[in-house]
Amino acid sequence: MSLAIRALGVAAALGLAASTLPASAQQFISIGTGGPTGVYFVVGNSVCRMVHKEAAEGRSSGRQHGIRCAAPSTAGSTYNIGQICGGELDFGVAQSDWQFHAVNGSKPDRVGACPDLRAVFSVHPEPYQIIAAEGSGIQSWNDLEGKRFNIGNPGSGQRGTTEELMEGHGWTTDKFALATELTSTEQSTALCDGNIDAYGYTVGVPNAGVSVATDGCNAYIVDLGDDPAATKLVEENDYYAFTTIPAGTYFTTDEDVTTFGVMATFVSHASVSDDVVYEVTRAVFENLDDFKALHPAFRNLDPATMIIDALSAPLHPGAERYYKEQGWM
Ligand code: GLU
Repeated sequence: MSLAIRALGVAAALGLAASTLPASAQQFISIGTGGPTGVYFVVGNSVCRMVHKEAAEGRSSGRQHGIRCAAPSTAGSTYNIGQICGGELDFGVAQSDWQFHAVNGSKPDRVGACPDLRAVFSVHPEPYQIIAAEGSGIQSWNDLEGKRFNIGNPGSGQRGTTEELMEGHGWTTDKFALATELTSTEQSTALCDGNIDAYGYTVGVPNAGVSVATDGCNAYIVDLGDDPAATKLVEENDYYAFTTIPAGTYFTTDEDVTTFGVMATFVSHASVSDDVVYEVTRAVFENLDDFKALHPAFRNLDPATMIIDALSAPLHPGAERYYKEQGWM
């Protein structure tokens, strides 16, 4: 008898729920994230850490599984959704606005239609932030006219959300003196080096990438609380909400800053097996305190909201199985 079968027998004899994926059945999964200085990269790698922790420890011999996980840096939300849809990635992190549009096929020029995208859970809030250089004079969206603005790399969530704002204001890139397509890793250095005047970034708070600009060269976050295009986006779409970045968050955040934002969500595909999604979901929620300790943006994570909020795609049945087992649904 193989070790795994014997272990399952012991688990059954003890009345324990046996893992659906015995350690002998090794399976490799990949999670799409974002730039290496963003929060998505930490989300993906924290999920992998919990998956490996569960695999190593097991709850009992019967709870060990054979999933091995990698979470490489990627271009971001819409790239991740596209790769999940094409079967190149098993999971990914994506903004709630792009999850919605992928499932509904409602913005095909920004994210491809992906009706089989599945929600697993939501993670941290992500305010959309315009970070402006010290002395740039930028206090509102309209002040970006004639400025050098980083609209973000193709495939990133902020690129799409910036385009939504531009559309809301009736702008094209012609309004900027220069519209760059730098990645989240490049943009703060470009700002501090004087090569751009501002950038738009949808990201959890606080994070290392933004602090390079705020704490490093006195860049600041522009208040969008009165912005008419942001107001319209929030009024018309459930996946956008106004939010506050509290005073003291960064070196230059002297007062609360209001802007609109989305939620980061963890997604997968209908064709990824229920057992794999179950084990990944279980690994995160069984170790949620450890998970939350891995980034300050995770501090308010709560299962009650994570399994409902900002999920417009149908829940993956593997995740649902775990939530039902816990009596959360
Ligand atoms: N929200 C960004 C995106 O969708 C990524 C932010 C991050 O890396 O934490 O591409």
